[in-house]
Amino acid sequence: MIEKKQFYINGQWVDPIDGRDYNVINPTTEDPCAVISLGGQADTDAAVAAAKAALPGWMATPVADRILLLENLLAVYMDRGEDLAQAMSIEMGAPIDMARASQVGAGSYHIKNFIRAAKAYDWESPFDERTEGARIIHEAVGVCALITPWNWPMNQVTLKVAAAAVAGNTMVLKPSEESPLDAIVFAELMDEAGFPPGVFNLVNGDGVGVGSQLTAHPDVDMVSFTGSTRAGKLISKSAADTLKRVHLELGGKGANLIFADADEKAVKRGVLHMMENSGQSCNAPSRMIVEASAYDRVVEEAAAMAQKISVGPADKEGRHIGPVVNETQWTKIQGLIQTGIDEGARVVAGGVGRPDGLNKGFYVRPTVFADVTPDMTIANEEIFGPVLSIMKFDDEDEAVRIANDTPYGLTNYVQSADPARRNRLARQLRSGMVEMNGMSRGTGAPFGGMKMSGNGREGGSYGIHDFVEVKSVSGWT
Ligand code: NAD
Repeated sequence: MIEKKQFYINGQWVDPIDGRDYNVINPTTEDPCAVISLGGQADTDAAVAAAKAALPGWMATPVADRILLLENLLAVYMDRGEDLAQAMSIEMGAPIDMARASQVGAGSYHIKNFIRAAKAYDWESPFDERTEGARIIHEAVGVCALITPWNWPMNQVTLKVAAAAVAGNTMVLKPSEESPLDAIVFAELMDEAGFPPGVFNLVNGDGVGVGSQLTAHPDVDMVSFTGSTRAGKLISKSAADTLKRVHLELGGKGANLIFADADEKAVKRGVLHMMENSGQSCNAPSRMIVEASAYDRVVEEAAAMAQKISVGPADKEGRHIGPVVNETQWTKIQGLIQTGIDEGARVVAGGVGRPDGLNKGFYVRPTVFADVTPDMTIANEEIFGPVLSIMKFDDEDEAVRIANDTPYGLTNYVQSADPARRNRLARQLRSGMVEMNGMSRGTGAPFGGMKMSGNGREGGSYGIHDFVEVKSVSGWT
C-alpha cells in the first residue's frame, strides 16, 4: 500500500497540519491502494500564503524564463510518463495502455501547446496606432485555486497549471480525492523542472474541505474549476463574496447527429468515442441522434460495435475499457440503466449488472439503448458511464431542436457528407465545440462550454487568455 500523506507547499514536501487519512480505492480490485491525507483549513492557508508570497517575484520573471521552465517541465514529464500512467491506472481505472497513450499523452500535448502559444502570445502591445502612448499589458490574475476532477486527471491538471504558470500566476492545485496519486507525481515534476518555491503548491483534500476553503479564501484571486455542474454552482456562490474570477468547465450531454449520408465509419466512431474511458468524459457523444431513413441500420451497427468492446482490469495491457471510478458511480450508472428500461427505452447491447466473468471491480457493460425519446431520464442526465442513447429525427430542424434541448452545451458532433449542411449546423448548435466527420479539434483550439457546461476556454492561447488580466496603460513612454 502506497503512503503519500505530504503536501507540496513553498517548494517543500510537508506534513499535513490538520489533515485526516483517506484511503484511495483501486476500482479494479475494490481494495485500498494508497493512503493520502485530506487537508484542512491550516493546510489551505499555508499553501495560499506561499502562493501569495511568491506572486510578485514570479510576475516579475520575464515570460521567456517562464517558458523555459515549461520546457523543463515537458522534458521531465516525458521521462516520468510511466509513473503517471501507473498512478492513473490504479487510482481511477484507466487501462494501462490507454493511460500511457491518451491520459499521459494529453498532458504532454497541452504543455507543448502552451509553450508554442506563449511564444506567440501578445503579452504587451500598443493599444491602437491612433492612441498615442497607450499600451495593453496582459499580466497575471494573481493567486489561483485550481480544482480538478478524476476522469482525465493529467489532461486537466496540465491545462490549468501550465497556462496559469506561464501567465505569471501562482497557484494551489487541489486534485480530486479520487485521483491524488498522479497529481503527487506531477508536483515532483514541477519541483524537478525548477519552478521557484511557492509558484506551484499542492494540497490534497475533498470538496467540502480544501475545495470550499480555497473558493472562499480572501487571498485567492481566481478559481479555475473542472468538474460537475453541481459543484460548479456551489463554487460560483462561494466565490461571490470575494468576487473572484471563476472559470468553470462542467458537464455535458453531447449530441452526435448522424445523417443518412454519413460516412461508413461514423457509427463505429461514435460508439467507440462514447465508450472511451468507460464513458467518463465530459465531451462524450452520449446522444446519437439519427435520421429516420438510416435509423434501423444505425441501431444494428451500434449494438454490434458495443458488443465487441471488451471490458477488463486496468492493469491488463491491450485494448479494452476498464472499470468506472468507484462504487458510487457504479451504483448510479446501474440505476440509470434500470431507469432507461423502466421508461421504455430498448436495450440493444449490454444492460444492468457486471460483464460476464467480472465479479469484482466496478465494471459496467457497454450499453446501447434504442428508441430513446427526449423526455426520458437517460436522454437528459449526464450518466458518466459506457451508456449510449439512440434517438431519431425526421428533418434537420428537428435534429437541431433535440440536440439543443439540454441544459448543457459542451460538444456536439455532426456526421454528414453535405458541406453546406455541416456549416449550417455548426452555427445552429449551441455548444462551445462542434466536431464534424471525425475531425478532432486542431492543435491548441479552445476547449470549453456554453450554458450549464461552463464559461471558460482551455488550451493554447485561449487557455492563457483566461489566466490574464488586461491592463490598459496611458502615458507609456
Ligand atoms: P466533482 O464536481 O464531484 O469534483 C470535481 C472536483 O471538485 C474535485 O476535486 C472535488 O473534490 C471538487 N469539489 C467538489 N465539490 C466542491 C465544492 N463544493 N467546492 C470546491 N471543490 C469541490 O466532479 P467529478 O465527479 O470529480 O468529475 C466528473 C464531472 O466533471 C462530470 O460532470 C464531468 O462532465 C465533469 N468534467 C468536465 C470537463 C470539462 O472540461 N467540461 C472535463 C472533465 C470532467
